[in-house]
Amino acid sequence: MERTGKPASGGCQCGAVRYHATEMLDNSHLCHCRMCQKAVGNIFAALVAAPDEAITWTRGKPSIFMSSEHVERGFCDKCGTPLFYHDTTNGRTNFTIGSLDNPGDYPPGANTCTENMVPWFGSITGMENSGPTDSNGKAWADAIKASNHQHPDHDTEQWP
Ligand SMILES: [Zn+2]
Ligand SMILES: [Zn+2]
Repeated sequence: MERTGKPASGGCQCGAVRYHATEMLDNSHLCHCRMCQKAVGNIFAALVAAPDEAITWTRGKPSIFMSSEHVERGFCDKCGTPLFYHDTTNGRTNFTIGSLDNPGDYPPGANTCTENMVPWFGSITGMENSGPTDSNGKAWADAIKASNHQHPDHDTEQWP
């Protein structure tokens, strides 16, 4: 696993928990194991790691569920955002890519534990794309924006 030397920050949806890594690793991947599916409530976990010693919790602290003897699953106990998978034996913490401030920076390089991959996974990218929010959806999207409680994708001095 290569070191990238590139820092990253992220956090949960409500902003109670924020983290910073002074450098990320290059292991971006999609894990399809049943435990990751449950832990993120989705069909796979998109993950990318930082060395444990590179990580600081810059606001709040994650809550932890031990999903097995050596594995910690971190999440925000205020809003429920899944934040990481941490194998306590290998020295790195895999963050959920969606919790990073710039998820687009981490294109996955592999699918892992594919024995549990949902059978329709391969059809996802071929689906019809209904495109960006249309004019009908605009008023609805604006209403959501006006009452948005989601923390922005950067650190803040004060929140909320
Ligand atoms: Zn939260
Ligand atoms: Zn997994």
